[in-house]
Amino acid sequence: MNPKVRVRFAPSPTGPLHIGGVRTALYNYLYAKQYGGDFILRIEDTDSQRFVAGAENYIQETFDWLGLPFDESPKKGGIHAPYRQSERKEIYKKYVQQLLDDGKAYIAFDTPEELTEKREEIANFQYDASTRLQMHNSLTMFAEEVETLKANGAQYVVRIKIEPDIDITVNDLIRGEVIINSSVLDDKVLYKSADELPTYHLANVVDDHLMEISHVIRGEEWLPSAPLHVWLYKSFGWEETMPKFAHLPLLLKPEGNGKLSKRDGDRLGFPVFPLLWKDPKTDETSSGYRESGYLAPAVINFLAFLGWNPGTEQEIFSLDELVHAFSFERCSKSGAKFDFEKAKWYNHFYIGNTPNEELAQMFAPVLAEHGVNASPEFTAKVIGLVKERVSFVQELWNQASFFFVAPTIYDEKALKKRWKENTPTEMSELAEVLLGIDNFSSENQEVIVKKWIEEKGYHLGNIMNTFRLAIVGEGKGPHMFDITALIGKEETIKRINVLINNVPMASTMSIN
Ligand code: GLU
Repeated sequence: MNPKVRVRFAPSPTGPLHIGGVRTALYNYLYAKQYGGDFILRIEDTDSQRFVAGAENYIQETFDWLGLPFDESPKKGGIHAPYRQSERKEIYKKYVQQLLDDGKAYIAFDTPEELTEKREEIANFQYDASTRLQMHNSLTMFAEEVETLKANGAQYVVRIKIEPDIDITVNDLIRGEVIINSSVLDDKVLYKSADELPTYHLANVVDDHLMEISHVIRGEEWLPSAPLHVWLYKSFGWEETMPKFAHLPLLLKPEGNGKLSKRDGDRLGFPVFPLLWKDPKTDETSSGYRESGYLAPAVINFLAFLGWNPGTEQEIFSLDELVHAFSFERCSKSGAKFDFEKAKWYNHFYIGNTPNEELAQMFAPVLAEHGVNASPEFTAKVIGLVKERVSFVQELWNQASFFFVAPTIYDEKALKKRWKENTPTEMSELAEVLLGIDNFSSENQEVIVKKWIEEKGYHLGNIMNTFRLAIVGEGKGPHMFDITALIGKEETIKRINVLINNVPMASTMSIN
């Protein structure tokens, strides 16, 4: 193993990064930082068929947003640049040639038709030691023949030569020792002359070696590739520096079994991508955590717990705390069920812990949408009064619109219940009382208004609830005098008068 902890996140830019990929990257980051190591982004774009424009930017933007910076990446560069595999073509050629020269790999000319034919002829056909001598490759042809074909431009692939019946041990930090017999493996294609590009397996192993990767931490779906990768390390003679493996448990759909998919998200109404994604071909959009109002620390905390737990009751972890607490011993082997309610729970917590001024900045676009132009100071104060009631910044409008715009309609049922014959008089008196208050703090208003109600022998509930209807429009919201202190004396009195003048209906109702 390489002595310094160096891990890589190695996505293929084939579309928006799945939230499971973000979890993989996060675990890589946590592990690297715990050991003061390096966190590297390598773009595995050797499959030109599946390449999607914009996907790499999307990946970079995701980690910028989450605050998980890479030490080396295509954008940042680094000692092992380039970090895009498509820019490393020449490097791979050299290593393919090394395997060929050492007899660890061979050239195969089988056409797709020939392969199909074989598959029809032999049940469960696998290109391996048991079949390769029946095929059209450099093991069954004379060397001159191979050279002539190549010289004439015939297309070929390079295949790994897996020797049969050898036990391959994969030491997985989460799963322990996994032993696979080489006979179950096939002679995977490592390189295609058609596009002069290596396949995932070769590029992945060569780059992990060259980039001095110490730990390969990736999703469980890559576990079947691990024995082949171990084999490749041996074929290259790189056993000494072979990275350690850790295959993370799958993210499972919220109900039932099976991998969490975009369809589950659409069906149950939650994002499965970190950021909003617009498909460059179809223009179809998929929602993202960021645009849905999730805060980066909430997403990090939530993802950390999908496949790992600290072994204590503690659920709230800052990124720093996660860096210290993370361990493979506490990662589960079985799939982690995606619990979307928990994501909301985390967001609610982090909203509560985000400074009001910061939330005010995030809320500004929502206010603008509603044509509201409020100062950041005022907005921050409002948010301070209502943030405990929301899980998302967008929900603030629902909880706090009345701070910014006076109600125009009133909850009919509540009005019916509270509006008595004397209500207009009482409300006018209330307006008078409020007008006389110099120190309009919440506490001072409360003392004076309550004293007035008591002295007059009025019904506390009726007065306060009607007061609330005048200010809020319905029977909700934070402490009454906190609201009025914030919107101010003038606005408070204005709203009371509007109610008195605009609800003749209500007084008629009570007279009946
Ligand atoms: N390019 C692979 C992917 O898209 C990398 C898997 C690995 O980490 O080795 O997930």
